[in-house]
Amino acid sequence: MKKVVIIGGGVIGLCTAYYLVKEGHEVVVVDQSSMDHGASYVNAGYLTPSHFVPLAAPGVMKQGLKWMFNSASPLFIKPRLDRSFLSWAWAFNKSCTAKNVSQSIEVIKDFNLWSAQLFSEIKASEKFTFQLENKGLLMLCKTEKMLEEELHLAKIALDQGLEVNSLSPSEIQAMEPHANIDAIGGIHYQCDWHTTPHEFMKELQDWLVGKGVKFYKNERVGDLQTLNGEIKSITTQNNTFTGDEFVLAAGSWSHMLSKKLGIRIPLEAGKGYRINVDQHTGITIPAVLAEAKIAVTPMNGFTRFAGTMEFSGVNHIINPLRVNAIATGAGDYYAGLKVSEDEKILAACGLRPVSPDGKPYIGKSSKCKNLTIATGHAMMGWSLAPATGKLVTEIISEKKTSMPLDAFHPDRKF
Ligand SMILES: Cc1cc2nc3c(=O)[nH]c(=O)nc-3n(C[C@H](O)[C@H](O)[C@H](O)COP(=O)(O)OP(=O)(O)OC[C@H]3O[C@@H](n4cnc5c(N)ncnc54)[C@H](O)[C@@H]3O)c2cc1C
Repeated sequence: MKKVVIIGGGVIGLCTAYYLVKEGHEVVVVDQSSMDHGASYVNAGYLTPSHFVPLAAPGVMKQGLKWMFNSASPLFIKPRLDRSFLSWAWAFNKSCTAKNVSQSIEVIKDFNLWSAQLFSEIKASEKFTFQLENKGLLMLCKTEKMLEEELHLAKIALDQGLEVNSLSPSEIQAMEPHANIDAIGGIHYQCDWHTTPHEFMKELQDWLVGKGVKFYKNERVGDLQTLNGEIKSITTQNNTFTGDEFVLAAGSWSHMLSKKLGIRIPLEAGKGYRINVDQHTGITIPAVLAEAKIAVTPMNGFTRFAGTMEFSGVNHIINPLRVNAIATGAGDYYAGLKVSEDEKILAACGLRPVSPDGKPYIGKSSKCKNLTIATGHAMMGWSLAPATGKLVTEIISEKKTSMPLDAFHPDRKF
């Protein structure tokens, strides 16, 4: 049994804590926040084998540059004369290739499928009640160009063994009889699942507390004390924590801490927004509004609209123009839906930790023997959390990992 200190109590930290406890390790979680907001709470709750194309794909950087001066665009890259941003942008641009996409598809798809299975296993074995539904995901298109692109991706998905159907407008309407959908066609990915994030986060946290995991909230890890290539302790404003092993699951802040150990993991915060709509929408199946890049999720008791990827540094500033763009986009695809001013005012945001090549960092850097890094999951951190937690636990328990980790190595070059 080892004493493991996890830095970060988002979904990656909590799922890691879950599997570590299951293996009999003693676990402490330290988080700088109150652990009730941020990316792991505002996300769209998708488990996404369908999202097998990494963010770093051909044309994405070009699109980002085009939209640089459009404050309502779904992708926004704020240019900054900051060394860490510039080297990330350079590496991201280098990764936006067909080769990166083709090398990533199978890895990302298998990782997501396995993780969705683990979500089900956790729910069953702990008798959790959080929403976990397999209604699939609709890709709704309003233009021929987008439909063509989505049909091309659907063909790749079929070749990858995923269950996918293309749909006419009347078939879409038949699947969603109580929502008035305005789309010229779409795709149904039956392989996807959805959840209500805060339900899972709460049940998992309560379970961990019941198993003796100690949580230290509102404590920011500022320093890491090392000796002979190992962390001896970490310190917050109030405490010093010692351990045999440490896990860095600090989301969009992870690179700031790893830098203190001489470990360079290029990472940028990709801000996303969500609006919760309490009024009746009639929406029962999750959907991505393809041109507007909005994710729609029928959650337990409300409908969530989530979107935008805003690279503007580590901050939680809400840009009302982006919130409005999501609300307007929702009304464009679901005729008659009007997001209220109150719902817009209550919009929240979170930071996705984005690596340059769209793949997470999972594993140990050669520069520190007892630190396992688990971050950089970008748009898939929710979906991939259980599988990541299991892999981290296998590393710490010195077991053979359930899948090869070379593609996720924290020391990889871009
Ligand atoms: C709008 C939106 C929609 C999304 N939709 C989906 C989706 O449908 N499916 C999907 O798979 N993913 C989705 N994502 C992405 C997903 O939410 C993230 O990838 C995931 O939540 C990241 O989890 P994390 O634990 O790595 O980071 P976080 O949730 O950010 O947790 C990191 C934690 O570390 C703590 N921390 C940081 N620095 C320190 C420090 N120095 N000391 C102590 N604590 C520290 C922070 O307080 C934080 O609580 C979405 C994200 C957004 C924003």
